[in-house]
This record gives sequence, C-alpha cells and structure tokens, in this order.
Amino acid sequence: MNAFRLLALAGGLAVAAPSLAQQGTKADQATLAKIKDEGLNRSRVMETAFYLTDVCGPRLANSEGLNRANQWTQKQLTSWGLTKATIEPWGTFGRGWDIDKSYVAMTAPYYHTLIGAPKAWTPSTNGVLKKQVVVVKATTEAELYKYKGQLRDKIVLLDVTAPKTSFEADAKRYSDDELQKMAAFKPEAPAAAAPASAEMEQRMAQRRALLALRTKMSDMMLSEGAAAILSSRGGSDGTFFTSNGAPYAADAKPVLPELEMAPEDQLRLIRLAEAGIPVELELETRTRFQTQDLKGYNVVAEIPGTDKKLKSEIVMLGAHLDSWHAATGATDNAAGCAVMMEAVRILKAAGVQPRRTIRIALWGEEEQGLFGSRGYVKNHFADPATMKLLPEHEKLAAYFNLDNGAGKIRGIYAQGNEAAASIFQEWLKPFADMGATTVTLRNTGGTDHLSFDAVGLPGFQFIQDPLDYGTRTHHTNMDTYERLPADDLKQASVVVASFVYQAAMRDAKLPRKPLPAAKPEQRM
Ligand SMILES: [Zn+2]
Repeated sequence: MNAFRLLALAGGLAVAAPSLAQQGTKADQATLAKIKDEGLNRSRVMETAFYLTDVCGPRLANSEGLNRANQWTQKQLTSWGLTKATIEPWGTFGRGWDIDKSYVAMTAPYYHTLIGAPKAWTPSTNGVLKKQVVVVKATTEAELYKYKGQLRDKIVLLDVTAPKTSFEADAKRYSDDELQKMAAFKPEAPAAAAPASAEMEQRMAQRRALLALRTKMSDMMLSEGAAAILSSRGGSDGTFFTSNGAPYAADAKPVLPELEMAPEDQLRLIRLAEAGIPVELELETRTRFQTQDLKGYNVVAEIPGTDKKLKSEIVMLGAHLDSWHAATGATDNAAGCAVMMEAVRILKAAGVQPRRTIRIALWGEEEQGLFGSRGYVKNHFADPATMKLLPEHEKLAAYFNLDNGAGKIRGIYAQGNEAAASIFQEWLKPFADMGATTVTLRNTGGTDHLSFDAVGLPGFQFIQDPLDYGTRTHHTNMDTYERLPADDLKQASVVVASFVYQAAMRDAKLPRKPLPAAKPEQRM
C-alpha cells in the first residue's frame, strides 16, 4: 500500500491521487492536451461507427454480421498499430442464425405492408404463407387451452398493449439536480441492505410465470398445427422492441416461424379480426441456422506497456460488439465499441508510452447474458463460482466499460469502491467543462463491467446521458446510425482515453473492494 493510498484511506475521501493536470509535469499536461486535440479535431469515431453499423450490419450473437465485425475490428485495430489483435474464443455459445428474407403484408380485407422482423432463432416459413388469422388472448393456461382445435393452418396473432400518446420528448440529458443526487448517494451498510422487496419478488415471479406461459403457448401452437405466430413487445410510432428470441442452444426443440411486429400494425389486425372481418396475411421468412461453429468470440488487442516493472500489468477497456437484429445496433452497442476503439486510436496517434499495457476487448454474446466478458474473465482471471484466482488476476489495474447508449459521459459509477471514487473525481476535473463531473458510489448493472466486479476486479461503467436509449433505440428496429450524436461520441472518446491513460501511468493499480465469496450459481 503506497503512502498516498494510506493517506487517502486515513483522510477519508478528502486526499486523492494527483491527476494528470495536477502532477504538474509538462509532459502529463501535454499528453492530456494531445488526447483532447486528437479526439476533438481529428476524430474518426463516426467513421468507425459507420463501419460497425451500416457496413457490418446487425451483429446478433454468432451471426454473419458479428463475424464481419470481428474481422473488421481486428484488422482496423492492427492498422492503428495495436498488437496481438486476436479473435479469441471465450467458450461454447450455441447456433448461429441469419435472415435471408423477411416479408409480411395484409392481403385482405385490403393490401397493406406491415412492419415486423423474424424473432431471433426462429425457422423459415418454407415459402410464402397466405393464411387467415386467429387472435389468441390468454393470461392463464386454462384460457390458452380454450383455443385448442382452432389454430390449424392459421397465423396466430398474440395480444399487445396499445401505445399511449406521449407528451414527453423521447430524448433527455441528466439535469444538474439528477447528477447531484447521484453524487450524494451513500451506499447502505451491507448488513442493512434490505432483501429484495416483496414487491420485487412478486414482479420477478410474475415475469417467470409469463415466460413459462409463453413457452407453453408456443408448444401448443406448434402441436395444434398453426402456420406461424405474430407477436409484439410494444413500442410506438412504428418502433418495436425485439425479445430475447427463441432458444439458440444446439439441442433446442423446434418452434414455429414468428415475427415481432410494430404494435400499431399488430393492433389493426386484431381489431379487424375481432370485428369479425376476415383478415388474410401473406408472409415469408427465410432464416438460416449455423451449427458448424458453436463457439463465441471476443476481439482483443493491445498497446504494450513500456515500464520494466509495470508493463506486465494491464488496464482494460471494452464494450460488447454483438447487438440485436432488427436494426444495426447503433446505440447498443456500436456506440460503446466505436468510442473504445477511438480511445486507443487517440492514444496511439498521440504517441503515448503507457507504463502498463492497455488492452481493448470487444465482447461477444453480451445480450444473451454477458457471455463474452464472463467467459473472458473466467479464462483469464477467476471463476466466480469457485473464486480460484488465476495469475493474471493480480495484474489487472482497472476495467472501463461503455454500454448505456450513445450519450456523452457525465461521470462514472464507482460501484461502491470509495477509494477509487476519489481518484475518479480528480481524473474528471479536466472534463468538467465538457459536462463530465459526477462520481457516484452507486452500482450500475446489466453490462460487462459486472463480469469483472463479480471476481473482485475493479470494473466500472461510465454515467452517460440517456438520450432516447430507453424510449426509442434499446433493442428496437430504430437503433440506427442517426441516433449517434457525433459530439457525444467524441467527448466520450477523449474522457475514456484519458482515464485509461491515467490508470496505465499511475504508480499503483486502482484500489479494489474486498474479494467476494465464491458463488456456485454463477457457474458458466
Ligand atoms: Zn448493450
């Protein structure tokens, strides 16, 4: 434990590690200036985002689109001078799946094209289907079985909640007040942490019951000889959310062809059918399963460290490269990948000589359960199920993640790591005028830094402006390049480049929380 850290701990949060600016060396301030200059005046982040979205296309787990992106990013990182650029398998995922054709239209009572996309990992219709529809509304098994004998050769329409008119803007940025509340957050003592509330438990149980009923529905419709299913997870204005798809495991049982629809189109069909007006649909999906290679992959590359003692230690940064398939996964998560790639491009272009090695990781299969990052952590650092530490565990200085949309960085979640929080406060100072000011002790979940945190490694996700992530783009058919504000991605790139550089230059690794206990239920 170095003197400074002791002071920091002794003096509570007041005393913190010197930032680049404070270290006062001309070289440090010059490096910071170079990082900002390169990232703001010669940015290539939008070019990278274009290739990841429009050129590579949708990047569903183990799909051709993700494979294209793995190849392209490996080549691009190498072309920027990074070393050891590798497409590294993390373990066995499941089947690949790609769409060759998707078409759906109403042909009676009049012709009209409809908005929808095949549900992930569902089979083809084997030619054009031209069929009558039947509406199925069931919230219990008893209600479901009432439809027995009515489904053969029909296209089943499942119910969906009607969108409401919203008077709120889709996109928003955090207000100062919201950020201050985050900064003021005090973690409860672990003992006082209330068990998941009864309400939460109840909501989880309801969700599990709904999922179970949905599986029973699919099985019954298949056994009753239905032709296909049209479902909708909601949305509005032609935007629909995709679901987690059908099972992708190699031994998954068969399911019916299914399309996920825009709620407005789904509801028109249901209203017509319920009014007793015959509705006929014409649809065709051609999808392809790939079972030659069931493995999942991550793309990793490095900027080698230069310090004799510290170069064996690593600072990691990452984001998941996979996406859902109804659009091009722009805000989820080409944005994070483009920013992380831009950060290392900036550091290379600025000619930095990091003391520790800097390693970028573009994760696969995050959307299905953080599989890429969890597999990587298990293969390189420790298995959370046993907490048996591997030699590289003590070499990781920090991991920084970006996966909350395309909004600019407003700060960072310290994940309950008080000692790191004070360091981050200093590191943010040079970016206060760019809107990055806030360090919160709050945890944030749902993405790849958790894989590191689960084995006691310092993994962090930045605080980002929400923009229209929750309302328009997250897992929708409207998650496209237009939703990437260039200035936001440029700002994020320089903040990330600076954080990574500082972590690679400081004498000590970032402080860690106590090692967590082994969690057998986290076995992969
Ligand atoms: Zn994501």
